[in-house]
Amino acid sequence: RRRHAAAASSGPGRTADGHPVRLMVNLGAPHELAAAAKADSEGVGLFRTEFLYLDRASAPGAEEQREAYRQVFEAFAGRRVVVRTLDAGADKPLPFATAADEPNPALGVRGLRTAVRHPGLLDTQLAAVAEAARSTGADVWVMAPMVSVPAEARAFAERARAHGLPTVGAMVEVPAAALRAGQLAEVCDFLSIGTNDLAQYAFAADRMLGSLAELLDPWQPALLELVRQTAEAGAAHGRPVGVCGEAAADPLLALVLTGLGVTSLSAAPGCLPAVRAALATRTLEECRTLAGLALAAPDAVAARTAVAEAAGGTV
Ligand code: PEP
Ligand code: MG
Repeated sequence: RRRHAAAASSGPGRTADGHPVRLMVNLGAPHELAAAAKADSEGVGLFRTEFLYLDRASAPGAEEQREAYRQVFEAFAGRRVVVRTLDAGADKPLPFATAADEPNPALGVRGLRTAVRHPGLLDTQLAAVAEAARSTGADVWVMAPMVSVPAEARAFAERARAHGLPTVGAMVEVPAAALRAGQLAEVCDFLSIGTNDLAQYAFAADRMLGSLAELLDPWQPALLELVRQTAEAGAAHGRPVGVCGEAAADPLLALVLTGLGVTSLSAAPGCLPAVRAALATRTLEECRTLAGLALAAPDAVAARTAVAEAAGGTV
């Protein structure tokens, strides 16, 4: 079974039969940069930029942003860095961009919706990312959070490309976006599934509420079905589809996500070795079989149990 055992401990992610699954790290704060850059990965799959904006009265200027991005791009020279533009609102309120009187902030003006109402915020950020990218050797991609409809993705892509950023993506975190992933893929170069928010919105369960953890379990078959539809739509358009939410950190679930057609996984650096090792124990076809078991299960616990049993406790 462990056909590529030697290759399992380092290097690019591969299934046992050599199908590539790009393994990348999530990055959210400057103090994480050294460990993230040192990790054996093919780059940053999710660079959360909110740290620059939080706990301050006004937005950071172009120069401050440029310097912050430059440090990350230099640390990842020769590798890919997927920058997520500002995801303000809901659990990340900003005094200069978030309305204080929203009755349901998670359903309010957040993510890319904020950028539409404060266009200067997004333009300053895209310009700073583009400038920093030009002076460093990283392969810089940008993506927008909380895209709901294809028109939002199209407008974002046009603005990013106007700033000289050629590779533009949309996060799939809203069920409507997953259901229209094909139309998103027509206007974007790649898609990235945020399973934290996608679970929150699919199950109408606040991701901050520990008491709803069962509904937010990334093994929920309905969530996996949204992942499957997104991955299939991406493949039909020749677009990569990653997962950058917490689901990507679970080695057994990584097999299922691969079987569903996901082409990259991005997680905390410490999680990657176990994910890499798990992938190397199974062929793509075996991953597809495991994915089928998970999709057919009635609930998250049954899905995990079915896949764990079929995997024979080797992952
Ligand atoms: C997600 O929603 O899964 C995601 C990756 O973004 P964040 O956790 O930053 O909202
Ligand atoms: Mg999110």
